[in-house]
Amino acid sequence: MDFKQIVSHAKEYGFIYQSSEIYDTLAAVYDYGPNGVELKNNIKEYWWRSMVQRHENIVGIDAAIFMHPKTWKASGHVDAFNDPLIDNKDSKKRYRADVLIEEYIDKIDAKAEKEIDKAAGRFGDQFNREQYITTNDRVVKYLAEKDSLTKRLAEAMKKGDMADLKKMIEDLEIACPESGSRNWTDVRQFNLMFSTQLGNIAGEEGKLYLRPETAQGIFLNFLNVQKTSRQKIPFGIAQIGKAFRNEIVARQFIFRMREFEQMEMQYFVRPGDEMEWYEYWKDLRLKWHMALGTPASQLRFHDHDNLAHYANAAVDIQFAFPFGFKELEGIHSRTDFDLSSHQELSGKKLQYFDPELEKSYVPYVVETSIGCDRMFLAMLSQSLQEEIVPDADGKESTRIVLKLHPSIAPVKCAILPLVKNKPEITEKAKAIFNDLKFFTQCQYDEKDAIGRRYRRQDAIGTPFCITIDFDSLDDHSVTIRHRDTLAQDRVHVSRIEEVLRDKVNMEALLRSF
Ligand code: ATP
Repeated sequence: MDFKQIVSHAKEYGFIYQSSEIYDTLAAVYDYGPNGVELKNNIKEYWWRSMVQRHENIVGIDAAIFMHPKTWKASGHVDAFNDPLIDNKDSKKRYRADVLIEEYIDKIDAKAEKEIDKAAGRFGDQFNREQYITTNDRVVKYLAEKDSLTKRLAEAMKKGDMADLKKMIEDLEIACPESGSRNWTDVRQFNLMFSTQLGNIAGEEGKLYLRPETAQGIFLNFLNVQKTSRQKIPFGIAQIGKAFRNEIVARQFIFRMREFEQMEMQYFVRPGDEMEWYEYWKDLRLKWHMALGTPASQLRFHDHDNLAHYANAAVDIQFAFPFGFKELEGIHSRTDFDLSSHQELSGKKLQYFDPELEKSYVPYVVETSIGCDRMFLAMLSQSLQEEIVPDADGKESTRIVLKLHPSIAPVKCAILPLVKNKPEITEKAKAIFNDLKFFTQCQYDEKDAIGRRYRRQDAIGTPFCITIDFDSLDDHSVTIRHRDTLAQDRVHVSRIEEVLRDKVNMEALLRSF
């Protein structure tokens, strides 16, 4: 499905609405509707249970969004949480200078891939990709250009060299996508933190920030948690919560928002052990994604070209979004940067006494950080499919189906009386609904023909539909229709929970990797 269809499906079926629609919307802010909030909560539950419940050495917290302003000084966000901003003087549109250059590099890459694909088609089985990309003049030229621009961009970003970014945009003759003009301002740093003011203190002193990441709430509580939960290193602290970033260009639906939700886990380890744990978490996080049914071909690791100020290793798990492979999750080896900086600025010791080594040290940290909204978009775009299926009278019809993993589907089971004008049937259906609703998220629906009701449930990803018909009155059995296979099983009412349990509960999923 293309991206536009995904966005309109999300609205039409109550997953996501743009914020403040009656006031012409607020850019890059979104609200989750009735089905959206269920799916989002299920994603969070899957993450939380696989981190906290599955690991006896990981515990959770829920820190406040506001933190002491010194937090952001120590973490480096006041000085370094910037993006390079450039304005086009004709269209008055703002861009991230690095993104304009990255898009240019992507185009060169696409040209090279096109040549390679053409040659692969021409040579068939004989095609040797390695040989071709090192010997074909055109491809060699494209790849060399891509390489040199990527290096120059990384270098300029690392040094904060705004002049070179501007020069690159000029050298590459990049035009504004809106106006087509090359009439650019200089590139300048733009801090992404939103600030606000405390009620009882005037001026700079009372300046507060909305947290741009949840991680700092974990670092500041490191000792509180370690002491009160009696954890020994290595151990982790997990948190799910809102984060805010004043993104310059917030596009691509819920991929890049100004208010979003993060699921982060900081794993505290002995200095020197961090690379071992970094590999461990890379592996486990990939398995977490694949357990939901995401094919390996839709996920890939991407090492950072440009390491953040706090990291000694960093990798993204990228997902094949409808607009290309993009970051879904980050795994970062953050060294002792954060705890050491907070220790220095606060004057309070943030150390751990290691009974085995018989000494104290500032632990190193490996973090896994995933955007809940990006995960939501990944699940929506991967699962939404259009299919040709046989319908009741033997003909073919198309259906839109959301093939979510059953345990994260917003509604697990729909209860549908075959007809609505027979009280014996509707009453029986309601009785089943009133019982099953204690077991899992159910929906009762008696409106419209059964085929249309099935389609409605397909569109929101309901894995099971239970139909109560005339025979049910006698044999006390129902028909369970499976969303993906369309198979229909006849099952006694007393066995419904047993048939659904492993699919809709998360236990089997959590045990599967
Ligand atoms: P990007 O390079 O896309 O801006 P980032 O490297 O700044 O992302 P991190 O700081 O590593 O992102 O944040 C961790 C995770 O939080 C990301 O992997 C992403 O899933 C999510 N995230 C970050 N910024 C946003 C945003 N503006 N909207 C939605 N999710 C976000």
